[in-house]
Amino acid sequence: MSPWTMTNPPSVAKNWSEDRKRKCVSAANAVLRESGSDREAIFACIHNARVKQTEEEYETLSEAAAQTLQGLVEAYYDGEIDEDEFEEKFQDELRSHYTLIMLASLGKSREVTPEDIVWINERLNQQFDYLKSFVEDISTGRMTQQRALWRAGLYGYPRAAWVNFSVPPNVADLMGVLPGDDCLGGGQCKCVLNIEQDDEGGMYVYWILDPIADHCAVCVAHALESPYYFTPEEVADSV
Ligand SMILES: [Zn+2]
Repeated sequence: MSPWTMTNPPSVAKNWSEDRKRKCVSAANAVLRESGSDREAIFACIHNARVKQTEEEYETLSEAAAQTLQGLVEAYYDGEIDEDEFEEKFQDELRSHYTLIMLASLGKSREVTPEDIVWINERLNQQFDYLKSFVEDISTGRMTQQRALWRAGLYGYPRAAWVNFSVPPNVADLMGVLPGDDCLGGGQCKCVLNIEQDDEGGMYVYWILDPIADHCAVCVAHALESPYYFTPEEVADSV
């Protein structure tokens, strides 16, 4: 497909403002002209059309990824791909999805750093471990297709990655746990973190529940314990 146009932009940009869409389309097409892949073009689109991150964008990107991942489950159960192909394609999709989520969450706040890539890769390796047992569960027939679809969909919502790149880089280290990490609803609680720094260099982290979503007990407990306070020394020692 492509090159993209204002009336036919990359799907992620469909509901964006005209100005933002224009930035996206020109960056994406520039990548295609240099023989970049569609994926690389979409990364360029998101990067060039950065705005302050919105919850809506998280939803749009995650829903699209969840559908792609569920499509892989269907392809596997239909016998179109074997378990190795399933695992490989699933990994590829997660890799690009996490990159998209990082870029969208960073928005205009700052550029990507090598540390960000390390963080993303650590998260991905963890997901790939879970994926191994997922593949085992479906290939041994221990799981119904319906349950596999549900489980694949959860991978599409990397809440912790979204939150991590919306706050200063040391918050993940200080907190040890981010929204989505231990959520019983697989991150569907949609919690966010708000950060306040005091004059001495200490930090307050507020765990905020989404006003509309249903909340699991774990997320509610985190919110009740908040704000979390970190001393200036702890903040200085964090990475
Ligand atoms: Zn939760």
